[in-house]
Amino acid sequence: AETWQNVPLAPPDSIFKLTAAYKTDTFPSKVNLGVGAYRDDNNKPWVLPVVKKAKAILSNDEGLDHEYLSITGLPEFTSAAAKLILGTDSAAIREQRVASAQTISGTGANHLGALFLSRFYTFNGPKQIFVSNPTWANHHAIFRNVGIEPVDYAYYDPKTIGLDFEGFLNALRSAPDSSPFLLHACAHNPTGVDPTPEQWEKIADLFLEKKHFAFFDCAYQGFASGDLDKDASAVRYFEQRGVPMLVCQSFAKNAGLYGERVGALHLVGVDKAAADRIRSQISVLQRSEISNPPAFGARIMALILNDANLFNQWKEDIKTMAHRIIDMREKLHALLTNELRTPGNWDHITRQIGMFSFTGLNAEQSKAMVEKAHSIPDE
Ligand code: PMP
Repeated sequence: AETWQNVPLAPPDSIFKLTAAYKTDTFPSKVNLGVGAYRDDNNKPWVLPVVKKAKAILSNDEGLDHEYLSITGLPEFTSAAAKLILGTDSAAIREQRVASAQTISGTGANHLGALFLSRFYTFNGPKQIFVSNPTWANHHAIFRNVGIEPVDYAYYDPKTIGLDFEGFLNALRSAPDSSPFLLHACAHNPTGVDPTPEQWEKIADLFLEKKHFAFFDCAYQGFASGDLDKDASAVRYFEQRGVPMLVCQSFAKNAGLYGERVGALHLVGVDKAAADRIRSQISVLQRSEISNPPAFGARIMALILNDANLFNQWKEDIKTMAHRIIDMREKLHALLTNELRTPGNWDHITRQIGMFSFTGLNAEQSKAMVEKAHSIPDE
């Protein structure tokens, strides 16, 4: 018998499958609306000018070697990354209550956070985490991999193409006390629908009342509004209110470092002793999986985050990307409404935030777009 005869063929990842189909398509004006990666006006990947500068500094550094980083990564990177998301005036950072580890981008942060929860979180009932319906599809796989079952909470309302706020609040109320809830810090993937600051307040109230745990996934800081601080406001607000939490952080999008896999996991403890215990266990888990994280991208980010001039340039680069996205939304909206007089309401295109948009098209309509809408009309 063949050794692997029991291995079933897995279906391809739907997003990467779409990219493969895009690549084989010969239509000259094709557009890839699948995987979330920023493109410039020439439909090309954009290496941020600040990243080019940081790379030049690194390549001129004669003293730079290729030794291993420590298990939790480059300290200049992780500590600056914690300040970036929690704020320079964060009480948790000041009181040394934050345990941080460098991870394999945001995916690795989600995985390490999920693994830590699976090992050490006191689940009140079944081992489950509540995730928004819908959410980044990988969330389901990441939690199932570590034995935590994702359970949907109401989030997106197809009728309004907006937030089902009442449904969300009811899910928070009806979940067992001390349930972990996954929250998108900003620029919700895939809907582009975020709670308002007032709604976040009510959400935080319920987290405290029900003693829920906030598992923040922050893959788009700066990408939502163009402002790093504004996009961190929900995370910072939860920290200030004392909601038990962790944050997964990615520099794939906001620094255009997709393939370098730069990310971090930050767990907020009640005091320094708790953070030390958490960090020690995170190190044990990390050691068995990757030993130590990759150095190059973390060095780039450490330079950018710790140098005032580079940091300011980064903020400009982020604005360039965020404002292009906002501008594209306005142009698409104008095209659909004023120019093409497309039936229906398209205001959600400009109301939604970040690089993702739920168009409101159903599956049948989307299929027709892929199959028919790109053919060159007969002349
Ligand atoms: N979380 C969310 C919500 C995302 O959209 C993404 C990127 N698609 C990630 C995490 C992780 O991305 P990466 O591993 O490239 O940082």
